[in-house]
Amino acid sequence: MQPDSVTPDQTCPCQSGKSFTQCCSPLLQGSVPAATAEALMRSRYTAFCIGAVDYLIDTTAAEKRHPEDHALIAEQTQITNWTGLSILATEGGSEEDSQGMIEFEARFEAPEGGGVLHEQSRFRKDNGRWYYVDGEVELLSD
Ligand SMILES: [Zn+2]
Repeated sequence: MQPDSVTPDQTCPCQSGKSFTQCCSPLLQGSVPAATAEALMRSRYTAFCIGAVDYLIDTTAAEKRHPEDHALIAEQTQITNWTGLSILATEGGSEEDSQGMIEFEARFEAPEGGGVLHEQSRFRKDNGRWYYVDGEVELLSD
């Protein structure tokens, strides 16, 4: 899925049930910062769906960025088709918090077979903005 393929009225790829315009689109465009860790996590899932590589790098904690990330993420978003998101648990991550954890499952299809990515992601707020720090990832095959 490419950015142009999501029309404003379409349901947001993060499956919040809201339209893309009222959900992740303003975050991806940089006009609104994510208020909560969950909002950032959802917008990053949407970015993976539509191949918004720069957004994924910009929302990663500075010390976790690597020069090769752009090429790796671009390749990954091209071959992987994300098909569903379920948030299982959250800790912290509210507007008053400076750290948060989100446990989620994301379903995907890929050339070598689909599966489920199960991750406990850590988020941190720096200067009023949420960033993805890292996560414990487990891949479950379908
Ligand atoms: Zn969304």
